[in-house]
Amino acid sequence: MNNQQTFHWTVDKNEENLKENQGIIEAAHLLQQGEVIAFPTETVYGLGANALDEAAIAKIFIAKGRPNDNPLIVHIARREQLNDLVQEPSEKARALIESFWPGPLTLIFKQTGSVAKNVTAGLDTVAVRMPDHPVAEALLLASDLPLAAPSANLSGKPSPTAAEHVWTDLQGRVVGIIDGGSTGVGLESTVLDVTGEIPILFRPGGITKEAIESVVGPIQVDPALKKDDQAPRSPGMKYTHYAPQGDLFLVSEKEEIQGYVDKWRLQGKMVGVLATEESKSNYEADVIISCGSRANLASVANQLYDALRAFDKKGVELIFAEIFSEEGIGLAIMNRLEKASAGRIL
Ligand code: AMP
Ligand code: MG
Repeated sequence: MNNQQTFHWTVDKNEENLKENQGIIEAAHLLQQGEVIAFPTETVYGLGANALDEAAIAKIFIAKGRPNDNPLIVHIARREQLNDLVQEPSEKARALIESFWPGPLTLIFKQTGSVAKNVTAGLDTVAVRMPDHPVAEALLLASDLPLAAPSANLSGKPSPTAAEHVWTDLQGRVVGIIDGGSTGVGLESTVLDVTGEIPILFRPGGITKEAIESVVGPIQVDPALKKDDQAPRSPGMKYTHYAPQGDLFLVSEKEEIQGYVDKWRLQGKMVGVLATEESKSNYEADVIISCGSRANLASVANQLYDALRAFDKKGVELIFAEIFSEEGIGLAIMNRLEKASAGRIL
């Protein structure tokens, strides 16, 4: 499965009438024939297939090497598409849709049974979102299908925020990749369960907890988000994720980073530091990469995965990273760093 021809289309997201774009039309046609296509969204690149076609969905799991018990998010472009997929949304769910769609908020609903079984890993719920990206929207409209799409990376690796990342991971394993430039938010969508009276946050992301609470009042946070000993209610959250090849360590006191670096370089290791614009000139290491500015955490979200992949390219064996405040988008940044470090916090 890793030697098929992979088509590559470059599509300018600012082009008018994208639905008529030749690349979009070809890609939409392949989706209708049950193939998988990688495409840009405002969060990360997605790997999409027809959510109603079990055989097409099976190809996603094979291409990514994704465990079968990790369910997929279904992407739609029109509100009406929701009617076929989910049972009557609650009032809070409707308020959230009104406020945040299209956008990086995935909602978990009771499902109707219309999506293929392997989309939901046998659960009686389904995750749905409406992406806020012109290329994703055009592809959804041109194919006229709900598309199940996880991130377009090999399972376990950092999610792709540029077409080049997708190409590195999936070239030869998928039929086509649409290059629509780099993504916006840079972290995956927020995942929120709205099946009960009080919504439950399963995965922090581009829409912050604070923003959600400003619309529907207090929400709960799945306890497993913080502790590894709890079985997560969202199956995908139990897997190591987003990890670079080198071992990543989070360092609570950034003043201690240089000491760790020096110690391991003396042992002959190639050592990197994940720093910020404010701190990068304070360190001496084999590779120092800034993932953005502390004064603007959105820039950190945007650059984090590219920074983690950059350590891989240089063959760094140990990476010491600064940590961030958990306010706003910081909660999602720290969640991804904790997963990428497999909980190694110094
Ligand atoms: P990814 O596709 O890699 O962005 O991951 C999708 C995330 O959504 C994973 O963490 C899944 O576990 C989660 N998810 C998808 N569908 C459901 C569902 N029905 N219930 C709970 N979590 C879900
Ligand atoms: Mg993923």
